[in-house]
Amino acid sequence: DSTANGSTATVIQNQSILTVTEVKVNVSMPEAAKKASETGADGVGLLRTEHMMLALGVHPKKFIIEGREEELVKALVENILKVADAFYPKTVWYRTLDAPTDEFKSLDGGENEPYEHNPMLGWRGIRRELDEPEILKAEFKAIKKLHEEGYTNIGVMLPLVQHPDELKEAKKIAREVGLKPQKNIEWGIMVETPGAALTIEDFIAEGIDFVSFGTNDLTQYTLAIDRNNENVAGLYSERHPAVMKLIAMVIKECNKAGVKTSICGQAGSMPDIVEQLVELGITSVSANTDAVATVREVVARVEKKLVLKAARKVLQE
Ligand code: PEP
Ligand code: MG
Repeated sequence: DSTANGSTATVIQNQSILTVTEVKVNVSMPEAAKKASETGADGVGLLRTEHMMLALGVHPKKFIIEGREEELVKALVENILKVADAFYPKTVWYRTLDAPTDEFKSLDGGENEPYEHNPMLGWRGIRRELDEPEILKAEFKAIKKLHEEGYTNIGVMLPLVQHPDELKEAKKIAREVGLKPQKNIEWGIMVETPGAALTIEDFIAEGIDFVSFGTNDLTQYTLAIDRNNENVAGLYSERHPAVMKLIAMVIKECNKAGVKTSICGQAGSMPDIVEQLVELGITSVSANTDAVATVREVVARVEKKLVLKAARKVLQE
């Protein structure tokens, strides 16, 4: 059961549609996991952490400062469990905290968040977590605990990486709490900075099982268009050739190395873009709950076209 791009995948029967490219789903709130799993999705391509942290009402750093780390770990375990359980044994890629400074200000303890002129280019994602490793450690401890309880279907995905040293450092922290990246837990990065896309081979050399395109951010950083700025919203497009060129490049390099590729930005719910990605040989696509069925149909149609094209070519030779 090997796909044309060299990666291994299982043929999935779902809602009577067969696809080799996996169709996954994005989950932002643990409470929505059950509904998301009912789509028949092949796993969770993005489990966002921000909402579960916001729902606690207390800034994660405050837990640490006040010596309440255990409480934070417990809350994370409860939340992640809802998703890991709803999808078990299908894989759930947990994305570590990606909190921009402006979004966590309203929380108890958030008054200490620094003011940033441009939070989107600021202290968020993995860069922040490496500066505050206690929070990252709490997340890893929660995953370790679930792992010990048999939820071995959880993988880790790092947001906003731009240099392989960040990947290296995060893995080191994971090992400190007893996780074994790439050995007993799937490990990957989001490709959402042009820096990561252009040097993908260096991340592959450092060691990853998968990458996932965060096209919401990849678009804003490639085109220099703030995704939250209405004045430039008309220029914002994932279909810009520069964005698609970066994606194509990364898929090609990853397929050569046997590293899985996925997408979890909004573009993964857009049929025309999904069509291009399947043609490029992406391993999986993660869509919003309400788009899973449509995306599955698109994937099946494109795969059929590709197979027929290849078969005709062989027959003509
Ligand atoms: C993305 O950037 O495409 C993504 C999926 O992450 P977020 O939207 O949470 O930044
Ligand atoms: Mg992002």
